[in-house]
Amino acid sequence: MGTNKIKITEIKVFAVAIPRRRFHKMAFAGESLSISNIVVIETDKGIKGIGEARVMQNWGGDYNRYYGETPELVAQVIRKYLAPSLIGENPFAIERLTAQMDDIIKGYSYAKAAINMALHDIKGKVLNIPAYELLGGLVRPRIRLMHSIGIMKPEDAAAEAYAVAEDGIKDIKVKVGLDLENDVKTVEAIRARVGKALQITLDANQGYRLAKTAIIALNELEKYDIAIAEQPVEGLGEMAEVTRRVNIPVMADESCWTPRDVIEISQLRAADCLSIYVAKAGGISGAMKVAAVAAGAGLPFNLNGSGELGVGNAASVHTIAANKGAEIGAVIPLTAPAEKRQTKVGNRSYLDDIVVDAYEYENGELFVPDRPGLGITLDEEKVNKYWYEV
Ligand SMILES: [Mg+2]
Repeated sequence: MGTNKIKITEIKVFAVAIPRRRFHKMAFAGESLSISNIVVIETDKGIKGIGEARVMQNWGGDYNRYYGETPELVAQVIRKYLAPSLIGENPFAIERLTAQMDDIIKGYSYAKAAINMALHDIKGKVLNIPAYELLGGLVRPRIRLMHSIGIMKPEDAAAEAYAVAEDGIKDIKVKVGLDLENDVKTVEAIRARVGKALQITLDANQGYRLAKTAIIALNELEKYDIAIAEQPVEGLGEMAEVTRRVNIPVMADESCWTPRDVIEISQLRAADCLSIYVAKAGGISGAMKVAAVAAGAGLPFNLNGSGELGVGNAASVHTIAANKGAEIGAVIPLTAPAEKRQTKVGNRSYLDDIVVDAYEYENGELFVPDRPGLGITLDEEKVNKYWYEV
């Protein structure tokens, strides 16, 4: 097939709502339902690409530097602004089309990421290679998973940590940042229950507010052998102060969306490591650029997500697979439809999924699939079952 002849003919966007395994409470909000926009890009060769935007309206960059999106906004931005400019274009021109989207409308990185993922899916399918081959090839055939425990009662957190360790997971992230006393009791209870079986990362989602508060909290929590403290406070100045004054390595998440952010983090020494998402960076292409700047700055990272379903999660999986710097455990769901679940609790964020295949899993690691493109197939019945009107 002459690959330069292929054309985008239609872009569809819809949404689904999938129930979570349990309510997930974080310093900024809580969720029992996950709403995702799914994008399907059709071509004149009959090959379709799929992408996802798993948005959060009340989560964004430091001091509103980047904003939340909603399922309705994503649908509107794609239908009214992005899709019309892409019809008739060659989906192989991923870099040019991604820049074109930024010219049409600033921001909306989640909406753009969904399209960028779908373009990678098309290109991989047409060339009959997995998406990671488009990104430099496979460096991580297995991905170490990190399970996220929401803010809850210490005994409940300890019970969940124990169940996660039973599932073979080696890394957990514990959400903190609302109440220091509960944070200490929670980490203490987890250590008492699982010993050294789990590596513990803390994520405050900016919740400690003042650098001084975060410094007191992290210095108190240090004795529980904490691997990483993620985004204790809001803003690079505050992050830099915390990074200077605690022994636990500090990770930037809300502070780290774009390549430019990594330059500033590096200049200010505002973190010791980074959390990169495909969605924050506006797609796989953007995440690869953030990762490249991180490599230049000597900052290790994990590539996480916003808790995507099987579509967006596949984009994260292929991006991690192609990045040597993605050496920290990934907080991504172990995607599996209800009838094919791999773990009882570990990285099982949702009760079901809209893709057909579950990832292979063993001993805390997900196996990167080698199917063409993103390697996913939508389950149309599930899409109808979980349909959410936007
Ligand atoms: Mg985070």
